[in-house]
Amino acid sequence: MDSLPVDLGALTLEDLSEVVGKLGERPYRARQLFRWIHQRGAESFDEMTDLPRELRQRLSEQAAVRTLDRDAAQRSLDGTVKVRFRTRDGKLIESVYMPSADRRTLCVSTQAGCAMGCIFCLTATLGLERNLTPGEIVGQVNAVNREVRRDEGHEGWRPLTNLVFMGMGEPLNNFENLKAALAILRSEDGHNFSQRHITVSTVGLVPMIDRFAAETDVKLAISLNATTDEQRSRIMPVNRKWNLEALLEACRRFPLRQGRRITFEYVLMRGFNDSDEDARRLAELLRGIPAKVNLIPYNEAPELSFRSVAFERAEAFRELLSGLHLAAFVRKNRGRDIAAACGQLANRQGSGPAAQAAVP
Ligand code: SF4
Repeated sequence: MDSLPVDLGALTLEDLSEVVGKLGERPYRARQLFRWIHQRGAESFDEMTDLPRELRQRLSEQAAVRTLDRDAAQRSLDGTVKVRFRTRDGKLIESVYMPSADRRTLCVSTQAGCAMGCIFCLTATLGLERNLTPGEIVGQVNAVNREVRRDEGHEGWRPLTNLVFMGMGEPLNNFENLKAALAILRSEDGHNFSQRHITVSTVGLVPMIDRFAAETDVKLAISLNATTDEQRSRIMPVNRKWNLEALLEACRRFPLRQGRRITFEYVLMRGFNDSDEDARRLAELLRGIPAKVNLIPYNEAPELSFRSVAFERAEAFRELLSGLHLAAFVRKNRGRDIAAACGQLANRQGSGPAAQAAVP
């Protein structure tokens, strides 16, 4: 027999069917396996009690259903939970669970560390360790979904309602693995997320935005954070390669379904990009693009020099944008006390209650 792929959680249903076929098993076994891994979040073959014992035995000798070990979890006062995972080769990565009144969102990492070097972001200080595999990307969703279901007592198999790819790493810098993970997460026999409930955020790798548009159908977010090239290049090195004009041109040609908008993330840093003039320039830059702006007061870190803005300033900035017919929202900073907020993922504990606690 050919050797089995090690990580079954990284395979689409079609690929899994091939593997099962090589074992001489009927095709429906692949669907059973797929559902166990992705819908129920099974962590071992032993749990798959409707598969023949002999098949489970053979599978467990040659393959695994998970590649991530849960290393730690911390719960914020606001209910946000940061879960840290360890990969088989010892890399630490983080996912952030954010429950709210109307949705349960998971922020997913796509790389261990990040190569983009945005100077306001703690993840950048790690540098890029490596890309995550499709199994490691999906594995974060499987593990947290299972814990939330168990700990919050959900009856349905998928308590998570939304995914945002805004964790560690630049998703479009790991596009092939991201795309493979999305195929699994969108599968009807897997998590069955609709495209409306998945958002991928990028700093603006322009050629990859075009590929993303052509090869996926999920939502796009742009981490913008500045209104001039001079300003943006100071904090985001990517802007020296693809400037604002190139980035916004890519956004203008991005095919949007009826009623869809591109989300622009704008981290507000005091005295740097929070002036009235910035607000006016931002509205001008985004003119003609179906857009909404998420304003995120900066999360300060002792080793980084940027400072946050008061809520009143963020509100005033939002009002200016609204007056210029640009939909804008001030985002609450979730999980600040456990270093789980935007730009804070760097495998740190924060000041919140450290715990090996279950989610939440
Ligand atoms: S903001 Fe995103 S892309 Fe920039 S360094 Fe941090 S993780 Fe990487």
